Amino acid sequence: MTLRVVGARAWLCDIPVLRERTDAVQSFLSQETVFVEVVTEPGTSGRGYSYTIGVGGSAVLALLQDYLLDKLVGLDAACPEMVWRHMFDQCRSLMAGPVSALALAAIDTAVWDARARHLGLPVHELAGGAQQEVPVYDTECGWLHFSTDELVANAVEAVREGRRGVKVKVGKPDASEDVERLRAVREAIGPAVALMVDANQGFTRDEAVRRAHLYEPFDLTWFEEPLPADDVEGHALLARSTSVAVAVGETMYSLGHFREYLSTGAASVVQPDVARVGGITPWLKVAHLAEAFGVPTAPHFLMELHVSLAAAVPNGRWVEWIPQLAPVTTSSVTVTEGRARPPTLPGLGISWDDEAIGRLAGRR
Ligand SMILES: [Mg+2]
Repeated sequence: MTLRVVGARAWLCDIPVLRERTDAVQSFLSQETVFVEVVTEPGTSGRGYSYTIGVGGSAVLALLQDYLLDKLVGLDAACPEMVWRHMFDQCRSLMAGPVSALALAAIDTAVWDARARHLGLPVHELAGGAQQEVPVYDTECGWLHFSTDELVANAVEAVREGRRGVKVKVGKPDASEDVERLRAVREAIGPAVALMVDANQGFTRDEAVRRAHLYEPFDLTWFEEPLPADDVEGHALLARSTSVAVAVGETMYSLGHFREYLSTGAASVVQPDVARVGGITPWLKVAHLAEAFGVPTAPHFLMELHVSLAAAVPNGRWVEWIPQLAPVTTSSVTVTEGRARPPTLPGLGISWDDEAIGRLAGRR
């Protein structure tokens, strides 16, 4: 099989969020979404995407349009490893970094989409097909700016709608506020629902150790991004000091960074983001590497694509419920009794609303 790329284009559209998102270090209202479409000979096309939370989308688009897309023409989309390596070589001096990783991800996901469409297979199967469904936890309920009453009401609603877990943002200036919020949520959802917390890299080492100790009574599934992502040793120290699992990965842009965390016991859950790590090709390597360390994979964000990847690998543990693409798709993730099922359509299985995409792209 040969799928020679004969054309490629990229564009950017800004997808509004369904509700404001605030955590310990930032607030955002924008999802700059960079699309790449490849056309192949004998005719199968593929569409991929990556995103930012409001900064840098134009830089990603420029890297694609000014440098990478021309180099893509002539390559074989049937061979994603070869394409990925060739693209990596084109921007080697920018690796590993967010802009280059996001550009590579938009290309790589388009290549996987074309390849899977050509074969008539959903990406979930093409990438391994390990599981039929993966539990879903809710993040939209737990942003930091919600009052405790709002937080509890949202968490109860999320559970009522079937989510198997809820995540609460932490990092209030006064630790007792975090504790009060967690106690209220745990009491409201009961012991059977998973409860996660996320500090978005907001703490120092001493504060992370202190807060982890304060959070322990609430039977947490994980403590996410407690420290800056470049402090691998700090995460290892924290992991040894608490019974709560440490989860990291959304701010990591290379397989080697994950290796550092896993080989030092600094992560008990990994959360690779298919856009930020450079696409499906490296994402699968992260998941398989984690499997070798006995560590589950709970991918960050991008539920419409991650449902296929989490289900493709045996250690895919959770899918994060944030309906990122709702304004630009006519399909939605199928969830039954709190478990998401990967799409069965060939390719990524995402049905794009091109009219909506065109409108949002034109608004920029
Ligand atoms: Mg997070």
